[in-house]
Amino acid sequence: MKTFSKSFTQQEAIPEDAIAAAVEVMRTGRLHRYNTVEGERSETELLENDFAEYMGVPYALACSSGGYALHVAMRAAGVKKGDLVLCNAFTLAPVPGAINNSGASPVLVDVDENYCIDLDDLDRKAQSSGAKYFMISHMRGHIADMDRVMAICEKYDLALIEDCAHTMGAYWDGKKSGTFGVAACYSTQTYKHINSGEGGFLITSDEQLMAKAIMYSGSYMLFANHSAAPAPEAFEQIRFDTPNYSGRMDNLRAAILRPQLANLDRQCERWNTRYALMQDIMQHCDAIRLTQRPEKEQYVASTIQFSLPNFSIDQIQAVVAESANRGVALKWFGADLPNGYTSRYDSWRYIDDMPSLPVTEKLLASLLDMRIPLTFTEQDCQLIAEIICDVVKYIQDK
Ligand SMILES: *Cc1c(COP(=O)(O)O)cnc(C)c1O
Repeated sequence: MKTFSKSFTQQEAIPEDAIAAAVEVMRTGRLHRYNTVEGERSETELLENDFAEYMGVPYALACSSGGYALHVAMRAAGVKKGDLVLCNAFTLAPVPGAINNSGASPVLVDVDENYCIDLDDLDRKAQSSGAKYFMISHMRGHIADMDRVMAICEKYDLALIEDCAHTMGAYWDGKKSGTFGVAACYSTQTYKHINSGEGGFLITSDEQLMAKAIMYSGSYMLFANHSAAPAPEAFEQIRFDTPNYSGRMDNLRAAILRPQLANLDRQCERWNTRYALMQDIMQHCDAIRLTQRPEKEQYVASTIQFSLPNFSIDQIQAVVAESANRGVALKWFGADLPNGYTSRYDSWRYIDDMPSLPVTEKLLASLLDMRIPLTFTEQDCQLIAEIICDVVKYIQDK
């Protein structure tokens, strides 16, 4: 029997040049982003410039987490108490949490069989709810048909905010994920595409939105120390009535992120190589349904999803248990109660008027999910795929 023994939660070490940059910051003692000496630009400011340039947008703000960036993006886009915000029912808890934090209520939209937001349901709910904001979560790196997403946004005059926690480095039809809406947010938490423990970004091309976001992030009156930012005049009107919701990034994190960002595209290729190797093996297992990905989607597959459409709930749970016995950690999104990082939409019980979403429940009940840490070699990924196929066959024949 094949088994695997590496950890599914072990990320790569921080690269040596990033460690050296962090040590340099610590030697100066100037860890706060606004603590600079004459003529110096802080690592945080430089990181924002790097990220804006990487994304091809004028403005970027580095902040304390991805969830914080989502919250501030909504506030800066004009979300107010009592507003409705459309969002994916299949996402992670920080997304509805950020909507709640901005005083709004989520309107949950179904998932489709490729784990994207269901665009028919989006169209229906945009119409029936009258919501003016849409937070799309490119959950697990699956990018919905953005041509149609944009058409729906136009039809209902929706302001789109993209949650790109899983699509840093990805594109739709040659256009970077995160450049479709009025703003986009990223996470640099340990399990995302670049790692500073905690951290995040907000990007936009909208001058007023960024000016507000910078004020919210806790710039005091030091907004002139941002260069991936609008000129100081843009702050004239808003600086007295935009509250400070302190959530800045610090120079230590920024220092370790800059070298990682410079290497991001290379890392994305490494993920995709591993994903392709797994798919090549798993496609030969009849019981497994792999995700169909449109040609326009240039994804970054740092995780893999598949489903077992003909398996009962008991069989799926047996697959998870037997895979775990053999050292392969699969996550199941169908559980009634939240478990680890995963939770089903109906566990966010603070949401008013919780809808019942039978389509989403049915699809999630057969969905399995696995992280692909870059500490796994290509051979590791092949072995894992073989183990998954063996286990699926074993449970099927049982
Ligand atoms: C991680 C994550 C976030 C938020 O990131 P944090 O930095 O942990 O706050 C948002 N959306 C999704 C889908 C995520 O996975």
